[in-house]
Amino acid sequence: MTLTPAYAAADAASPLAPFSVERRAPGPRDVQIDILYCGVCHSDIHQARDEWGGSIFPMVPGHEIVGRVSAVGGEVSKYKVGDTVGVGCFVDSCRTCPQCEAGLEQYCDEGMTATYNARERGTGVPTQGGYSTRIVVDQDYVLRIPDGLPLDAAAPLLCAGITTYSPLRHFGVKPGDKVAVVGLGGLGHMAVKLAVAMGAEVTVLSTTESKRDDAKALGAQEFAATGDGRAFKQLRRRFDLILDTVSADHDYNAYLGLLKIDGTMVLLGIPERPAPVAAGVLIMGRRNLAGSAIGGIAETQEMLDFCATHGITSDIELIGIEKINDAYERMLRNDVRYRFVIDIASLKA
Ligand code: NAP
Ligand code: ZN
Ligand code: ZN
Repeated sequence: MTLTPAYAAADAASPLAPFSVERRAPGPRDVQIDILYCGVCHSDIHQARDEWGGSIFPMVPGHEIVGRVSAVGGEVSKYKVGDTVGVGCFVDSCRTCPQCEAGLEQYCDEGMTATYNARERGTGVPTQGGYSTRIVVDQDYVLRIPDGLPLDAAAPLLCAGITTYSPLRHFGVKPGDKVAVVGLGGLGHMAVKLAVAMGAEVTVLSTTESKRDDAKALGAQEFAATGDGRAFKQLRRRFDLILDTVSADHDYNAYLGLLKIDGTMVLLGIPERPAPVAAGVLIMGRRNLAGSAIGGIAETQEMLDFCATHGITSDIELIGIEKINDAYERMLRNDVRYRFVIDIASLKA
């Protein structure tokens, strides 16, 4: 065991504060990673504030982790000391169910073991995430960061990147397809970059008029402000695929009306409360409403390699960890362009 500096939420009502977390000594198949950068996902806020229920405290959030290997167990073959690696949203799964065997570990029959706010398989010890200087992870759940990607701006690929890449691939986006991205935040801005790189014609649907120029700069062809409702008439039956990344309660039915016949809307954002869906809007257009969770390990590696090939990373604001509570408040006010990343050096100082 090593005592590792971290930031944790003591309970759902408290701000994050300095904390020490015990990391296990690397087992035979483990990789010990000295963390360099950790992205700040809206899921960190949802869970630190127990908005989804069942949160485990104290909680060290963080699942967009990039770091360097500092030790490996005796049976580790995939990584060596000094390698630049990443860890995303989960660190283990059952490895034997049909989904695990198919590389869809995020849908494991026994439930994936999340990087934080979960319990380790076997020991039941709570997992703790990347707002810390070190983490120990089984080699099979570690990703390789390709050469050439800036490491701070690559961190958000481990969640925001794969969460948007996976549905774009699964639902078969091809050149010329009309894709809408709802909500231009951490996930949303990655969705735009990735869909554009796949050749789609992308429209951003946003509540924030001041993001119009950014949407274009990210490669979107169109931007529609959703505030006054006009967009819902103008863009009726326009899209093959809609990725909904909104973190707050909103009306799904209005967006479903923007799908073509047989189009699909994929829910990625996880608001606190369930929302009603009208049968009529699905029926009168044979439309599909779907959901998607992150991506498996193999697909996450594929996404990282795709990003290296296409020169894609996240637009980030690098912060010291002492700014984390302020960063949460700013995310809730839509005041981030487009992902906070914690410089973990600030935790060692
Ligand atoms: P984020 O950076 O805070 O972005 C969310 C965006 O939603 C905002 O930028 C804003 O975009 C829009 N929005 C916020 N409040 C809104 C409201 N009241 N009405 C309409 N739009 C609103 O969050 P994120 O990190 O991208 O995460 C987004 C959601 O995805 C979260 O719920 C998170 O938990 C979830 N998530 C899911 C998965 C998965 O596997 N499915 C993975 C990661 C995260 P505009 O200003 O453009 O309107
Ligand atoms: Zn996330
Ligand atoms: Zn499984």
